[in-house]
Amino acid sequence: MADDADVIVVGGGLAGLVAATEIADAGKRVIVVEQEGEQSLGGQAFWSLGGLFLVDTPEQRRLGIKDSFDLALQDWIGTAGFDRDEDLWPRKWAEAYVGFAAGEKRGWLRAMGHRIFPVVGWAERGGYDAMGHGNSVPRFHVTWGTGPGVVEPFERRAREAASTGRLRFAFRHRVDGLIVTNGVIEGVTGSVLEPDNVERGKTSSRNIVGDFTLRAQAVIVASGGIGGNHDLVRQNWPKRLGEPPKFMISGVPEHVDGRMIGITEAAGARLINRDRMWHYVEGIQNWSPIWPRHGIRILPGPSSMWFDATGTRLPSPLFPGSDTLGQLEHIMRTGYDYSWFILTQSIIKKEFALSGSEQNPDLTGKSWRMTIKRATNKGAPGPVEAFKQHGADFVVRDNLADLVAGMNAIAGSDLLKLDHIKSQIEARDREMTNPYVKDTQVMNIHNARRYIGDRLIRTAKPHRILDPAQGPLIGVKLNIVTRKTLGGFQTDLDSRVFGQDGKVMPGLYAAGEAAGFGGGGVHGYRSLEGTFLGGCLFSGRNAGRAAAKAVG
Ligand SMILES: Cc1cc2nc3c(=O)[nH]c(=O)nc-3n(C[C@H](O)[C@H](O)[C@H](O)COP(=O)(O)OP(=O)(O)OC[C@H]3O[C@@H](n4cnc5c(N)ncnc54)[C@H](O)[C@@H]3O)c2cc1C
Repeated sequence: MADDADVIVVGGGLAGLVAATEIADAGKRVIVVEQEGEQSLGGQAFWSLGGLFLVDTPEQRRLGIKDSFDLALQDWIGTAGFDRDEDLWPRKWAEAYVGFAAGEKRGWLRAMGHRIFPVVGWAERGGYDAMGHGNSVPRFHVTWGTGPGVVEPFERRAREAASTGRLRFAFRHRVDGLIVTNGVIEGVTGSVLEPDNVERGKTSSRNIVGDFTLRAQAVIVASGGIGGNHDLVRQNWPKRLGEPPKFMISGVPEHVDGRMIGITEAAGARLINRDRMWHYVEGIQNWSPIWPRHGIRILPGPSSMWFDATGTRLPSPLFPGSDTLGQLEHIMRTGYDYSWFILTQSIIKKEFALSGSEQNPDLTGKSWRMTIKRATNKGAPGPVEAFKQHGADFVVRDNLADLVAGMNAIAGSDLLKLDHIKSQIEARDREMTNPYVKDTQVMNIHNARRYIGDRLIRTAKPHRILDPAQGPLIGVKLNIVTRKTLGGFQTDLDSRVFGQDGKVMPGLYAAGEAAGFGGGGVHGYRSLEGTFLGGCLFSGRNAGRAAAKAVG
């Protein structure tokens, strides 16, 4: 039977688009099969902040940051904590990926028109020792244009290839099975879903109006992770993080359903590290949701005080922005699935950023005028102020007693006791009088302000939380927000998928989140941030190039 294309790519997210454009550029015919409509092209990456992990860049050097491949690899290995036999390929991917981030990644993107906001962010700052978790230096490079700015060059290349007939999109086509003959992948089968003009990101109809079969010499699975499917998240929840949370919000649209992962595994592919995931603990319920249970992650600067559900301060070094999974583990051990920030207007103004392209209209719209206002405005950025006003998780009051009462009202309990919270804040505030201190969070604030990027737009001038001049006081209930899947299909450096018998499955490739961003878990247990989009770029590119070569 004649093939419909040389290669089929399942998923029109970033990883799928990158793979497909590489295949088309190599002169091969490719079909991108995507369950959503054309309006959702780009998948999660469209919604992302567009933060990219890059190493030793001109942007870093201009800010006085000295970075290197060796330092970045040290940080990656300390963060990943690889400790399993199946980490063999993930380790190889990690080294190759850090090389990509320190090498051709920036130039490759730049040649396609991608640009970077000049102030480099400092995510996952750790707080342990030099070999432990975290970024030793700022490396989070935000795309000028955020997520849509990351997708744009690949969408443009894909549409160009479509206009010449080398690439074909099959939207509203949902893959339900892989065609495997004698262990060789020969194509996909699936359902045609009814047309649906629902807005990007919203839940689309699953009514079936037909079926399809497509044949090719190779299939690349780039179908994303499981973060939109809370049942799967709970099912795979690692024991080391305690019981799965009872209440979670979703940091991803519902199409991140994990369904294709099950289908690919049923066809014989080897899924590893399924218990490794990356969920955030600073989630707030979106007052203007796009997808069901829509949660937004606060990207916090270092100054907010962090309390568990009973009002006890989180221990050092679990400060805002230091160690996402350390915080998740600690919070789950408290027996509650939420925690609290207490901060001031001065802190929220400078330190709260919200992850998501739609929450950053200045950067997404590439408006210098609006972006400069971040540094000069009296209030916080518009979207943050809107959450303060309308968000179900925010309490704003002029004094601590009223604030604590308001926080208890939101939680529907009386777990928070004014005296307990007051004594901890007053103790911390006494540490503000000297530039050298005992309190490690305050030390951390002083350290952050030695980096010019933080001093400019990310870290408030140290002040007392209970100083009325810095008010009003703000309490924020922080929920667990699902996001990324760190495990996935085990792949070699050509993104070829291993079968459950340990041998490469001829014709099958995986990229992006479905491949644990490469190898089946390039991050190990934890991430340095900005590594997911980059993981899609690198694994999608490897998959596309290798598949194009293999189909001859
Ligand atoms: C709000 C937000 C902010 C983020 N910020 C950042 C950031 O700053 N930096 C960073 O590195 N990462 C960030 N990320 C993460 C990053 O965007 C994602 O991990 C990445 O885009 C995943 O891409 P993917 O191509 O692997 O999967 P997806 O984007 O999920 O795409 C997979 C596609 O496959 C389709 N599909 C699934 N199953 C089938 C099937 N059976 N048949 C047909 N089609 C199917 C889906 O509909 C989807 O379109 C963010 C994510 C979000 C949501």
